[in-house]
This record gives sequence, structure tokens and C-alpha cells, in this order.
Amino acid sequence: MTTMSSVSRLKFIIFLGCLFLLAGCAVNPVTGKQNFTLMTEAEEIRKGEKAAAEVPATYGIYDELPALQDYVNEIGQKLAKNSHRPQLNYHFTVVDSPQVNAFALPGGYIYVTRGILAYLNSEAELAAVLAHELGHVTARHSVRQYSAATAANVAATVGGIVAGIFVPQLGGTAAQGVQSLLGLTGNVLLSGYGRSHELEADRLGAEYLARSGYDPQAMIKVIRVLKNQELFDIAAAQDEGREPRRYHGLFSTHPDNDTRLQEVVGEAQQYAQPLPVDDLRTEFLRQTTGMAFGDGVNQGIVRQNMFRHKEMGFTMSFPHDWRIRNKPNEVVAISPDGDAVMVLSRFENPRGSPADLARERLGLGSSTEILSMVNNALPMAVVTSKTQNGQPFKAGVIYLGENAYLVAGRGDSHIAFERHQPAISSAIGSFRALTVAEKEAIKPLEIRTITAAKGMTYAELARESPLGIQAEGYLRLLNGQYPEGEPVPGQLIKVVK
Ligand SMILES: [Zn+2]
Repeated sequence: MTTMSSVSRLKFIIFLGCLFLLAGCAVNPVTGKQNFTLMTEAEEIRKGEKAAAEVPATYGIYDELPALQDYVNEIGQKLAKNSHRPQLNYHFTVVDSPQVNAFALPGGYIYVTRGILAYLNSEAELAAVLAHELGHVTARHSVRQYSAATAANVAATVGGIVAGIFVPQLGGTAAQGVQSLLGLTGNVLLSGYGRSHELEADRLGAEYLARSGYDPQAMIKVIRVLKNQELFDIAAAQDEGREPRRYHGLFSTHPDNDTRLQEVVGEAQQYAQPLPVDDLRTEFLRQTTGMAFGDGVNQGIVRQNMFRHKEMGFTMSFPHDWRIRNKPNEVVAISPDGDAVMVLSRFENPRGSPADLARERLGLGSSTEILSMVNNALPMAVVTSKTQNGQPFKAGVIYLGENAYLVAGRGDSHIAFERHQPAISSAIGSFRALTVAEKEAIKPLEIRTITAAKGMTYAELARESPLGIQAEGYLRLLNGQYPEGEPVPGQLIKVVK
């Protein structure tokens, strides 16, 4: 036993020795002190490059407004020049995701979603988002996390590669796709980097803002924007019977009461430029006008409970008063009382008939009767049965092109199922191919600006908004006036058309 133990300890010491050799004397670019890091800068850049190559396929790059990409990159480059690692080759990119998110890969790859841009209200706020992510890069948080984890010998699973502002907790999001691509477990990302790294990113971000001529207080404004998203989502989640999203880097206190945050941002005042720019609200609104809002054409679009997918070429209508969530892998609809649910999912290259697929996917015994038919000129199989837990459901499998679609509706009880069955049946029956003209007509919602007239209210704007039952809340969030506040006459405000 003794011998074994000595051998392992020796191995461990040699192992650590190698690590230190490999790491050399990695000097932290921010503190100037030596950090215990395993990763050289070249390796960090290589890792970032590799991960960045996956981003277009996972998120999609938002290429509808090339001028917006240039604008975001220009602001990012200005901040980077005033950062602690100006020598890195930075890339600032808008990704085509409706999620409110921003993240950094090692080595200088920084991303913002069009989803977060929609909720910002000035160039200074955009700069603050970029500067926060820049802070994670310059302080080498992902590298430090990676190194600490490796040293603790638990690293095989934790990478700390992606530094997002937040990652939605549930639902197989695109962000989670990036995580799994990179082989991360997600724990680090979901909670962010922890309080100290997030504060450091805020502090560094505020410094880069000030050095670039922006008001560092924009950092606090952005955190307020995210906090309001969180408050809004907690209410919506309760309504929809789901878990609220968790925001990376957000802590329980409201930014207005967060003295540490106020302190670190306040310190940045010493770097303020003699001639600071204003927050450039009008310029920012001009640049983001016409930007897609919510689901993009590639994600499938929901309007008046009709789901349409351009590329896959189909449409179906969910019951009119159900709440719909368009997730990357499926569309889920929930009855107003939450006692029934429908799910639309897709299977590529199905084999056999729709009935074969239904039997296989739904785990049906050979005695279960499946009806085969042609509906709206498409081969379809329909079945009514029970889940293993005894919950009654009705499902349809439809073949269209290279894909099979499964539309299934389930009730929590027999009574609920009986009540909702007609609605579920007609939803299944509504599945059909889109005509060429219908495909062409599919357009995402867009951000537009209008000048607020005297007496204009968000309630009034909500009534004519395509944003549905939560339109008033969304309009306030979009304009930085959540939870209360009304348009100021004469001021530009954002609406969605
Ligand atoms: Zn962060």
C-alpha cells in the first residue's frame, strides 16, 4: 500500500511539474501577475478558432443587414483597442438567434444575438455588452476556469469555453448546442463564471467603455435591461408552467441595489475621456431598424397560432387560444388551463410507412389500431391511444418531402382529453404543404421606429401589435421602460411590425 501511494504521489508531482513547464509563466494581461494557467495564448487562439468554426452552423450568422454587422464590429474594435489585450485579432459578430444572449470564445471571438440587440436602446448599451464580453477575454476567464478545473482533475467535462451573458435553462437551445459541440456540461455556463469573474468583466468592461469615450454607467443600464428580462420571464414562465430562464452573470440583487457593482463601475470614471460621446441612441435605433425580431424564417414562424416553415415547406394551425413555444427541435402548444399539450416534431429520412413510424416512435403494440389515409394530399397515419402512464393522446404522422412530422396531443386526464380532442384533431388535420407563393410571403417580424405622438400609450400600441397577449410587456422591454412608463411625446420608440 505504502509503495503504491508513493508511486501515485510521485506521478502527481511529475504531472504538476509538466503542467507548470507547459504553462510557462503565463502572465495575466489584466493584472500583470502570473496566473496558474495551462493554456498558452497560441493554444487559446486555436481553441477559439475551432469553436468559432461551429458557430455559423449552430446559430447562423445574421446576414440580412450587413451594415449592422459592420457597425457592431466597428464598436467592438474600438473597445478592443482600448483593452488590455489590444494585440489579439478580434471578431465581433451578430448571430441569427432570437435569444437574448452574448458570449465570448477564447482568443477574441465575441458574439451578440440579434435577440439582445432588440432590447438595447443606445450605442453605449451595445458597447457595454461587447465590453463585458471583452472583459472575459482579456482576463482570460475561460482559460483560468479551464486551468483550475484541469488542475483539480475534473476538467475532462468542464471547459468554460463559452462566456455567455445568459443561457436559457430549458429547451435545447442553440446556445446549448454550442455547449454540447464544445463538450461542455453546461454547469459553469448556466451560472456564469461566478460572482467574482462577472464583477471583473463588468469592471473591465466599464473601463473599456470610459477609455473609448462612452459613459461607463451604460454597463449598469445593460444589467438593468437583463434584470427586467428576467423579471418579465419569471411572470411569463409562471403563466406558461415552465422554469424561468436563468441569466448568466446576473445575481439576485437588483443592479440598483448592488453596491459592489456600483463601486466597480464607478471606478471607471477615472478613465473617462475629456470629450465623451453621448449614448448615441438615435444612431443605434437607425442601425437596428429593419432587424428581424423573434423567430426568423429559418426557425419557423408563428402568427395567430399558425406555424409556418419556409424551408421545410409546411404549415399547421394550433388551437387558437393555446400558448405556443417554438423551440429549435420542436414546437410545443399548451392549452389555456395547462391540462393538455401538443408537440410537433420532425424526423429526417423516415423508413417504412407513416403507420410504421407511428408504431415505432410511440411504442405502440401490434394490437393498437392505426388509421392510414391521405390528408391534404399527404400520406398520414392517425392513432388514438394511451401513454405508458395511462394518459390519453392522439397523434398523427405525416410524410412530406424528406421528412416525417409527428403531431401529438395529450390530456392530463380523460376529462381533459375529451374536452380538447376536437381541437387536437383539427390541429393534426391542418398540417399541409405550403404553396410557392405562400413560402415567398413568409417574413419575420421586424423592428421599426416611430415618433411617439402625444398621449400615445403602450397599451394602445399593444392592441395593434402582432406580439400577442404579452405585447404591452414586450413593447416596454424593447424601449427600456419596463415595468411601467409610457412613450415620451416626440421621442423615437421601437415597435414591431
Ligand atoms: Zn459574463
